[in-house]
Amino acid sequence: MNEFVCTLCGRCCMGMGRYVKVTGVMGPGRYAVRHDLSNELFYATVDRNFRGRIDPLNRDTPAEWCPFLMDKDENGNYYCSIHDSIPSFCKKYKCCTCRISGSNGNPAGMVKGRSTIVTDDKELEQLWNSAVNSVLDLELNEQKKKIVEIMKDSGYDVRYFE
Ligand code: SF4
Ligand code: SF4
Repeated sequence: MNEFVCTLCGRCCMGMGRYVKVTGVMGPGRYAVRHDLSNELFYATVDRNFRGRIDPLNRDTPAEWCPFLMDKDENGNYYCSIHDSIPSFCKKYKCCTCRISGSNGNPAGMVKGRSTIVTDDKELEQLWNSAVNSVLDLELNEQKKKIVEIMKDSGYDVRYFE
């Protein structure tokens, strides 16, 4: 198993504006916040490197965005401005069960939930679904091992996350 690595695409945080609500200002760069999906109340402190660069109560980013998501940086990455004080919901969040890359190492797809593949590559989609169907009678960890092998034989690297 591999540790989940966030690629900083920002997609998950771009839909969190409905759930992450600033309820009070505690001081410069410090806020009382409620996370409605996990019912968490927490104090958020804007990380040192983003201090003075974000006001979560006065953003011109889309309303659907989490108020603490920084706009894209020069490398195309989206950073959370309160990374050191994020709620447990965000700490635990993984957007996929595993990632799939092709023989060139480039991302080819990802899997959501137990086995739903997300890819633009129809051939990969078929290969994945047939691999999943061929291991249905195995126990879950055995299924994963076998799927990794089958996909490897076709030139794909599958990384499941813990
Ligand atoms: S958790 Fe996933 S969707 Fe969210 S920013 Fe990271 S890679 Fe993107
Ligand atoms: S607090 Fe940070 S990690 Fe959590 S949704 Fe907002 S920007 Fe994303």
